[in-house]
Amino acid sequence: MQYVQVDTQSDPHSSSIPSTVKQKDLSRILVAELMDMGIEDAHLDEWGYVYATIPSNSDKIIPVICFCAHVDTSSDSSGTGVKPILHSAWDGSDLILPDDQAQVIRPDEHPYLKERVGDDIITASGTTLLGADDKAGVAIIMDAAAYFMAHPQIPHGTIKILFTPDEEIGRGVDKVDLSKLGADYAYTLDGSERGSLEDETFSADGLTITIQGVSAHPGYAKGKMVNALKVAGAFLAALPRLGLSPETTTEREGFVHPVHIQGTAETTVVSFILRDFVSGRLDDYAQLLEKNLQSVIQQFPGSSYSIERKEQYRNMKEILDQHPIVAAYAEEAIRRAGMQVRNLPVRGGTDGSRLSFMGLPCPNIFTGEMAFHSKQEYVSVQDMEKAVEVVVELIKIWEEGAGSQEPGNKEQKIRNKE
Ligand SMILES: [Zn+2]
Repeated sequence: MQYVQVDTQSDPHSSSIPSTVKQKDLSRILVAELMDMGIEDAHLDEWGYVYATIPSNSDKIIPVICFCAHVDTSSDSSGTGVKPILHSAWDGSDLILPDDQAQVIRPDEHPYLKERVGDDIITASGTTLLGADDKAGVAIIMDAAAYFMAHPQIPHGTIKILFTPDEEIGRGVDKVDLSKLGADYAYTLDGSERGSLEDETFSADGLTITIQGVSAHPGYAKGKMVNALKVAGAFLAALPRLGLSPETTTEREGFVHPVHIQGTAETTVVSFILRDFVSGRLDDYAQLLEKNLQSVIQQFPGSSYSIERKEQYRNMKEILDQHPIVAAYAEEAIRRAGMQVRNLPVRGGTDGSRLSFMGLPCPNIFTGEMAFHSKQEYVSVQDMEKAVEVVVELIKIWEEGAGSQEPGNKEQKIRNKE
């Protein structure tokens, strides 16, 4: 509740790093708290990243495990003057937010909230988001760190803590120094429902189509002008209507999605995003768009086009499948903390997908943060406590598993135990 009161909104229109200096306000508090716990190397770097190490207290050779969360909040909703409210032992009735009575969190509209009757629920007050995304993750990591510092009798390997800025604007790992971090594997604490583990994300490309028309003075354009805006309009109208779009797909289905258009009669640029869980299908989607575009171009003699395609991020599962132990240990930790594992594929990307491809395999663990990026954001205290338990169990499992056999066999052992 303290962390959410610090305004840490990031800004997609800023080119500075971090995008807003106020993010460091929280990071400085975190560094001070980590040092108070006795974590001596905790520090904030110039780019707004917090690094800290809990040294190993075991003789075993144990992989170095990092826990990661982001300090910034979304620019979709104000993060200034957040007033967190604790609804103790919530009775299941509508949560009316006092500073804007039109903001009502109705359990009927939030199916997961219904499961949390009796929990202590934290909300904002109606005029801002809460910022549980991802300050719940920050709080969970801080609490787990305090636990290990206060219980040195529990053997563990080296634990790394990483707090990043600018996740919400897609730049959360731009300036991370992985060699300085020195971790073998990582987990982000930025998931939602209790028990969930996210080890699969979309693969994502951006595609920019530039349509070239032929300009002429509109008064004397007969037989000369070819209007690029109209070519673009015909092309967009011919996109698949029944599938392959965000508004018609769910679960494991992919899509192509026009996100921006800008132009004149002479030149019009249409930007797309392509998404699928299977990277290879992005090629199919790009080919489909180009085929459609070619047939439209033929209807407008004189027009032409060019296409530029850029990789944005890749499904982290491609990497995590090469290190099955990372997700398997997390699943085991969730079970040891008394929960069933919910495996959710993420219809988006996470910092973990980029970290995974940068060489740090990194699935995402739940925090309880729900309805994020909105004024109706909420989080259950008990969900956060469960996530702390998962982090603690996970560290124990890595210690137990160390020094025995190669990773594949260890995972098999875990699965056999079920
Ligand atoms: Zn987040």
